[in-house]
Amino acid sequence: MEIRILGSAGSEAPGQNAPAFLVDDCLLLDAGTLGFALDRIARCSITHVLLTHAHLDHFKGIPFLLDNLIAMNPTCNLQILSGKEVIADIRKHIFNNRIWPDFTLIPDPRNPVLSYRTISPRRPEVIGEYKIIASKVNHTVPAYGYLVEHASGSCLLYTGDTGPTERIWEKMRGHDVKALIVEVSFPNDMVSHALATGHLCPSLLEGELQKMPSIPDKIYISHLKAPFRDKIEAELARIPHVSLELLEDGKSFTVP
Ligand SMILES: [Zn+2]
Ligand SMILES: [Zn+2]
Repeated sequence: MEIRILGSAGSEAPGQNAPAFLVDDCLLLDAGTLGFALDRIARCSITHVLLTHAHLDHFKGIPFLLDNLIAMNPTCNLQILSGKEVIADIRKHIFNNRIWPDFTLIPDPRNPVLSYRTISPRRPEVIGEYKIIASKVNHTVPAYGYLVEHASGSCLLYTGDTGPTERIWEKMRGHDVKALIVEVSFPNDMVSHALATGHLCPSLLEGELQKMPSIPDKIYISHLKAPFRDKIEAELARIPHVSLELLEDGKSFTVP
């Protein structure tokens, strides 16, 4: 799988954009920043968004993506997949014909540009050649992480926003997770703030590494709050026996 980083930060600053990861040009993991993907939107190559939770920084690209679809290719359909609470929040509070149109009725209810699909942690969901396994994580609102496994065996785990958590690491068992995208939002001296807001700092990540049944070959770090990036990077470099890589917007990596 080829993963293109459209955005990977936990806030916005010049060169740092809200989270969105494009898998093989067709599947989005979160949709905070879609500007780089506009050409693909026009070609309808992006068909599914796996949304981790209903916080603004993770979905704010979708309203404009749908706007662009209507303008450029109204026969396309984009499907948002997430847990039932997340879908309910997006429907009720965003695409409610007040904040933004209800795109499940546009251009017409039988062939809309937007549809929803609820994903349950109890059973895997199949999207073409991908098997998706959802897991609840520990954030301030209902939030899910996703294990994305391609038919070729290539396997990626994305936590989305989470504080210290358990279940998602259990889901790694029986899967050869080659790459992990995990969040680290704050530096170590803000550990109590990280815990209160459902996020990780480097020392908390160290604790999470101990819970994993095996350590993935590649661990990519996302969701750094822009003002603390250098400090977090220095603290991550001091975690022993593991190589952690900070994601950079606009770049891509391959999951073997
Ligand atoms: Zn976030
Ligand atoms: Zn969040």
